[in-house]
Amino acid sequence: MKVTDHIKEAKETLFSFEILPPLKGKSIQSIYEGIDPLMEFKPKFVNVTYHREEYVYKERENGLLEKIAIRKRPGTVGICAAIMNKYHVDAVPHLICGGFSKEETENALIDLQFLGIDNVLALRGDSIKTESVFRPHKDGHSYAVNLIHQIKEMNEGIYLLDDVELTGTDFCIGAAGYPEKHFESMNMSTDLQYLKAKVDAGAEYIVTQMFFDNKKFFDFVNACRSIGITVPIIPGIKPIKSLNHISFLPKFFSIDFPDDLSKELLKCKSNADVEALGTEWGIQQSKELKDAGVPCIHYYTMSNSSQVKTIAANVF
Ligand code: FAD
Repeated sequence: MKVTDHIKEAKETLFSFEILPPLKGKSIQSIYEGIDPLMEFKPKFVNVTYHREEYVYKERENGLLEKIAIRKRPGTVGICAAIMNKYHVDAVPHLICGGFSKEETENALIDLQFLGIDNVLALRGDSIKTESVFRPHKDGHSYAVNLIHQIKEMNEGIYLLDDVELTGTDFCIGAAGYPEKHFESMNMSTDLQYLKAKVDAGAEYIVTQMFFDNKKFFDFVNACRSIGITVPIIPGIKPIKSLNHISFLPKFFSIDFPDDLSKELLKCKSNADVEALGTEWGIQQSKELKDAGVPCIHYYTMSNSSQVKTIAANVF
């Protein structure tokens, strides 16, 4: 079932979460261990992130360096199929532009349709660690809007090589939004115009980057509505867990901690202190969002379901 249909049917705020495929070499069991504790909160859908290959340089016998692609986290499509099969919930694979030609994208979408997956979160992806700016595949897409356009065309039965008559797919397409602006954008209004272009191209709902100040989310929703973005906007919540997160999250995700939170974080002496504060902050944020009637709250578990479980137990 489509994410948008779940939202339409819902009488109250839905609970959803996203998981990361495990590092290569681990089994599907490690995925289930992350999902099992959260199933009691009846998620209607579970997102599975996609991770690009990374490159390492290996010295050859002649002394030259060889660039080798390594795949760190395998199997978004397979994991989605396994989740749907085991838990009977909709799985939402993240599909990215980076590293994919248009043909590979089409093939991935054909596989998803074949597996009965109705939803896709369409993203550009970030640059790989060895590159300072995002470089698309030479036959791929530069921006999420182009990927959304391709998916929309497939929904209309337009494939890359349409020499035979093909049935259209029927994917519900989600896109990413940034309450504190995407880090590459010149300013908020430009970023919002690009977000609107994604919706105009076919995105039917938006999931936001994490944020820690609900006012920023509410302002973002108002700004979206004021430029004619009418699709559901799902807030993304990430509980802070460790001392390391205090610098990592703002740096990596280009977000700010509000003053109230940063003052409390400065008092934390251990990971346990941060986790307790992060959990309480996540509960308060979620309660306020739920009271405001958001369609769904989407939790970034980052392989840490216990903290999300505590939050969900207090909110849902
Ligand atoms: P886009 O919408 O393409 O935007 C990228 C930048 O380009 C923005 O600054 C935008 O303003 C600008 N822009 C957009 N269109 C144009 C245009 N036509 N011309 C010029 N500039 C333009 N990454 C992963 O690798 N895997 C994941 O699974 C994943 N999941 C995510 C889930 C969520 C909910 C979110 C919020 C992010 C996720 N990301 C993931 C991270 C995401 O890939 C990065 O934030 C990436 O840098 C931007 O992706 P996007 O889809 O927002 O890109």
